[in-house]
Amino acid sequence: MEDRTYEVLIIGGGISGGTLLYDLALHSDVQSMCLIEKYDHLDPLNSNAHSNSQTLHCGDIETNYNREKAEHVRGGADMMLQFVNNGSGDQTLKRNYGKMLLGVGEEEVAFVKDRFSSISDLYPTLREINATEVADIEPNVALVNGKQRDDEIFGLYNPEGWAIDYGRMTDNCVAQAQGAKDKTVDVKLSTEAIKITRTEDGFEVKVKHGDTLHCKFLVVSAGTYSLHLAQTMGKGKHFSVLPVSGSFYFAPEVLNGKVYTVQNPKLPFAAIHGDPDMTKPNTTRFGPTALMLPVLERFNAKTALGFMESFHFTKGTATTLFHLMKDKDIREFIYENIGYEIPIHGKKTFLKQVLKIVPSMQLDDLDFADHTTGVRPQLIDEEKGELLMGAAKFSEGDGVIFNMTPSPGATSAFANAAEDLVTITEYLGRTIDQISFKAIFAVSP
Ligand SMILES: Cc1cc2nc3c(=O)[nH]c(=O)nc-3n(C[C@H](O)[C@H](O)[C@H](O)COP(=O)(O)OP(=O)(O)OC[C@H]3O[C@@H](n4cnc5c(N)ncnc54)[C@H](O)[C@@H]3O)c2cc1C
Repeated sequence: MEDRTYEVLIIGGGISGGTLLYDLALHSDVQSMCLIEKYDHLDPLNSNAHSNSQTLHCGDIETNYNREKAEHVRGGADMMLQFVNNGSGDQTLKRNYGKMLLGVGEEEVAFVKDRFSSISDLYPTLREINATEVADIEPNVALVNGKQRDDEIFGLYNPEGWAIDYGRMTDNCVAQAQGAKDKTVDVKLSTEAIKITRTEDGFEVKVKHGDTLHCKFLVVSAGTYSLHLAQTMGKGKHFSVLPVSGSFYFAPEVLNGKVYTVQNPKLPFAAIHGDPDMTKPNTTRFGPTALMLPVLERFNAKTALGFMESFHFTKGTATTLFHLMKDKDIREFIYENIGYEIPIHGKKTFLKQVLKIVPSMQLDDLDFADHTTGVRPQLIDEEKGELLMGAAKFSEGDGVIFNMTPSPGATSAFANAAEDLVTITEYLGRTIDQISFKAIFAVSP
């Protein structure tokens, strides 16, 4: 039985937990903190470079973000980049690839031009590119056998487009936190929280096969598991989790940078993109598809049990799913994405999506990317009968925060951690070191 009471306990060793631990240890006077992770290493799930697209989303080429959302996301992306530049001591955490938004066909070309006029003032380095300029940057996108492809194309290009290894970034943040002088910063791996109880002066967290931990302030950044843990404490009862996974395919190196396409506004992040893989040299990764699966971890069928605990088949979820399935575009999209998982047929249908980006791609060049993807915990609001698209947070000023982080949760991790840092320090009567924080992030928390 452990008798220490930490000031802050964080559940979850992904990018959300890692960035918050770093902030608390290096930019506040909180003295004792602990991060627990149920696996035997950090970033085992969605934050790992194999699980996500490694994109620093800043809203320029993501057509599902309106101007307001784009501006908001850009703030978080800036913090992430500032951290790599000024705080990580490891420039290999980021790689500059350049990012392109590709419009194919008359309608999309018009859309791309419109988008440029509505957001270009937010992105000084973003520029419009015609088919010839696309060919200069990405020959395999614009040309087939050395000649311009048949369909009309037009793009936006930002040379300041970055990929981030969010998994190694997590490791970096945690290592720095553990190096903080004169503080207690404990990191407990293979430590799964199984029960949270509110006590008179904080929380008691029972862990599987281990000690019971105590803290004054608790942060649950457990990815797809956060909702269930929240609900065991009576929070967010009217939400259900809708786990959206998806698959990637590997191809030889056909792209120099990241190439995104125009999204269907009803289906954010549904259109696949092509990205150089930071962790696999000479490889382009296409995807992800979007597949709803009743599991909380993509390659762990046992997590179906966890799904059952945080999905409630109520009138609200039924209404939401019914509305989704009623829409022809969404219905077809769901069927199409199930089809991608069928051997041989799946690869053939996926090729059609890839051809939009690289018109000369051959079936034999695509290889299913095994054990490469994660799960995005989208939430259904059962009261409103609505599917929420962005991140969600339950933070009611009562000493506990729950973070649910679908895409672009990794990009926004430092922005999200800063919000939690403010809440935690105010609650505990601690202070933020504004000067050191600003020196790293160039903004105040
Ligand atoms: C296919 C795909 C592509 C994506 N692409 C991008 C992208 O390009 N850019 C971007 O910004 N975002 C992207 N995302 C989203 C991004 O990966 C996530 O938002 C981010 O990784 C979430 O980080 P997290 O730390 O909140 O959760 P996770 O990384 O899931 O970490 C949660 C941790 O909590 C641990 N845990 C869970 N339960 C317990 C417990 N009871 N006790 C102890 N530990 C527990 C888990 O083991 C896990 O390590 C993508 C996601 C997917 C699935």
